[in-house]
Amino acid sequence: MKARCQCGQLGATVPGPGDQIVACHCLACQRRTGAPFGVIAYYDRAVVTLTGEVREYSRVADSGNSFTTGFCPTCGSTLYARADKHPQMIGITVGSFADPGHPPPHRAVFEDTRHGWFAFAAEMAHFPQGRT
Ligand SMILES: [Zn+2]
Ligand SMILES: [Zn+2]
Repeated sequence: MKARCQCGQLGATVPGPGDQIVACHCLACQRRTGAPFGVIAYYDRAVVTLTGEVREYSRVADSGNSFTTGFCPTCGSTLYARADKHPQMIGITVGSFADPGHPPPHRAVFEDTRHGWFAFAAEMAHFPQGRT
């Protein structure tokens, strides 16, 4: 499977759907994406190939760990995310696959700040904050 940014210069190739797909309603993800929530598919870093030029932005998450996103310096699309807490993992933003058939999230976190008009139709685990 291939993910890419809007302009196409930044890309990621992965072997298939991630086995940890997470929807996050936290306010930082709302700002990160410009959307009411973010969805990221996490992979073992060893199986992900990144191509193209990237810039990174790191912030300190509520957990105290740093959370870094990689985005295209040309078009600004966020392609990946990494958390210090899980250095062996990398997350690919699900929208970057541009595949409406992509599997749904396995869990939704930070539902305390979920927009009230939105609810997932698919079955998944729900957490008011981060996963406990
Ligand atoms: Zn781009
Ligand atoms: Zn979040």
